[in-house]
Amino acid sequence: MQNLSRLPLRCWAEIDLAVLERNLHLIRASLPPHMRYVAVVKADAYGHGLPQTAARLMHAGADLFAVANLAEAAALREIGPGWPILLLSPLLPDEDRYVAEYDLTATVSTSDEVRRLDTVGRTAGRPIQVHLKIDTGMGRLGVWHEETEKLYAEILAAPFVKLAGVFTHFSSPDDDPAFTAEQRRRFLSALARCPGLELSQLFVHADNSAGLETLEAAGPFNAVRIGLLQFGILPRRESLLTQVRAEPVFSFKTRVGIVKKLPAGTAISYGRTHTLKRETTIAVLTAGYGDGIPRAASNRAQILVGGSRCPVLGRVTMDQTIVDVTDIPGVASGDEAVIVGRQGDGEISLAEFSHSSDTIPWETLCSVTKRVPRLYKTQLGL
Ligand SMILES: *Cc1c(COP(=O)(O)O)cnc(C)c1O
Repeated sequence: MQNLSRLPLRCWAEIDLAVLERNLHLIRASLPPHMRYVAVVKADAYGHGLPQTAARLMHAGADLFAVANLAEAAALREIGPGWPILLLSPLLPDEDRYVAEYDLTATVSTSDEVRRLDTVGRTAGRPIQVHLKIDTGMGRLGVWHEETEKLYAEILAAPFVKLAGVFTHFSSPDDDPAFTAEQRRRFLSALARCPGLELSQLFVHADNSAGLETLEAAGPFNAVRIGLLQFGILPRRESLLTQVRAEPVFSFKTRVGIVKKLPAGTAISYGRTHTLKRETTIAVLTAGYGDGIPRAASNRAQILVGGSRCPVLGRVTMDQTIVDVTDIPGVASGDEAVIVGRQGDGEISLAEFSHSSDTIPWETLCSVTKRVPRLYKTQLGL
């Protein structure tokens, strides 16, 4: 694993691109063969690093990439000339023309967007590809499902807008299968009301990682939009998707700054929220919320030192986090500590760490800051 800086590291993430590639193959293998794979790489590929992640997913054979915004799309375009890119978020009016410049596929939810993109296409002299998004109960982007026909007709009537896909997004795929089924019904019924729609010619998609649990082979769906699962993280505990056997791509590590013994009764860190009950050996780790250990992990999370779980004592601070290493012999300055990942026989999953920081894996990954170098492993270990 290369470390581009000459300096020793005090907090870093390790990204295993070989595992990422294998995850894509495992997810594909778990799906009907006609399903196309839309790799969702928004937010710097969920904190894993867009250029490295996307290049590997291209190599692994993703069919289409999805990003949130223009800056991400532009960065991706540099890596993959010609690769299809879907913008998931709406364009701002002063961004419209870049859709043509970067050859992107836009998501449309409103008549206004159809009109604007038609103008962009006319100026560019070629049609702009769009995916029509249908709001089946997420209450965010998309045309409200009962109004789909009207927007569909407007797209058909716009000579410089070309329909390339139709999709929806689930609000509760991880905990409400009944509502997810209702969203699928609304989606299919909206499509059925669009005359002349040739679904086999389009990308037809609804499922994110959690959606896969209730995806049925029958039906017009022919693509899935995968974010979290390709990084080896399950959308919920006890997920049926354990069967896919995707493995974590990301680990998050830091080191021991100093070790010292403190008497019982000493309060630890800002606000004195933890008081030692016994004489305690603490290790002050060289990472804090300035690196992406959420402050909500204070007094709750555990971090691996010497392969053992060590409770976080007191508040996480910007640059340091304090753990109890009393029961671990021989801990010394410079030792590695694992916030997320494996060490010896110990393992702290991203799900566990997120739970003990009062958040979800998606947010934990997005919270790892710029200060944290990402080291890339490119080949599978033996
Ligand atoms: C982020 C996103 C996804 C990917 O979701 P995961 O749960 O990470 O798989 C899919 N679709 C849309 C519209 C998204 O915004």
